[in-house]
Amino acid sequence: MSDNPYVKNKNLKIYLNGELVGLDEAKISVFDHGLLYGDGVFEGIRSYNGRVFELDAHMRRLYDGAKTIRLEIPLSAEQFKESIYQTLKANGLDAKDAYIRAVVTRGVGYLGLHPAKTVNPSVFIITDECELYPPELYETGMELVTVATIRNHPAALSPRVKSLNYLNNILAQIECVDAGCVEGIMLNHEGHVAECTGDNIFILRDGELQTPPTSAGILEGITRSVVIRLAKRRGIPVQEKQLLRYDLYASDECFLTGSAAEIAPIIKIDGRVIGTGKPGKITLELLEDFRAVTRDELQV
Ligand code: PMP
Repeated sequence: MSDNPYVKNKNLKIYLNGELVGLDEAKISVFDHGLLYGDGVFEGIRSYNGRVFELDAHMRRLYDGAKTIRLEIPLSAEQFKESIYQTLKANGLDAKDAYIRAVVTRGVGYLGLHPAKTVNPSVFIITDECELYPPELYETGMELVTVATIRNHPAALSPRVKSLNYLNNILAQIECVDAGCVEGIMLNHEGHVAECTGDNIFILRDGELQTPPTSAGILEGITRSVVIRLAKRRGIPVQEKQLLRYDLYASDECFLTGSAAEIAPIIKIDGRVIGTGKPGKITLELLEDFRAVTRDELQV
């Protein structure tokens, strides 16, 4: 692990099953079902100035996802939260901005699928500086393409579970990067817009904010929920409704939401210019509000 070129801070301390360990000790067994089958759940969380953003909402999603896949997290949500703060502190991130990855795997078993043949789920927490989209993308706006890989059918593995099986999103990521974009739009099994590979999507049309409902087969993003509250606070009507690609092309504004992305303006989709071709006015107002919430200057 310490020779991993992508981990810049070689002194990083990782929380692993109750202990803070160095990179060399932060290892998971080849028999862990998280690795063998993608059997587990995770969260990607941000902290701003040492304050973990929407931590209760992230814990709720983690524990609801774990319950859905019949995985018992060996910590209470309170203990989990404390462990996150402890890991930030151990890495000198308790007064900085950081990205937090919280992971629960099914644990060590053997080659059979059934979780009954595993022991003790593993919990680990990685905290490090945040890897963000390039800042100029927030000024110029981003371009998206629709990818051919459809989002997982919600009646198979619900996209509401943030599971360790992210192949659906990875295949979509490969497609959009091949097309020269950093994000791409995934449709669902009915051809409706679902979400992006790691972000939710919103449009503004005639003054109304619209975003696909959870029944479209999306991860119910924490940033998405905060943005819906911020829009309502500004008196902007919000509708969760089925959207087609036409709705995106004909929108006045479009943006993505995600813990890492925050609110990212979209100016082109599948070669169609959105609105004026510049980040939209409401998008930028919501981004300003959002940043005020992250700095604890606004409650929503
Ligand atoms: N959709 C998917 C598939 C994601 O992976 C993510 C972020 N991890 C999101 C949406 C955005 O969710 P959040 O706002 O909770 O980060």
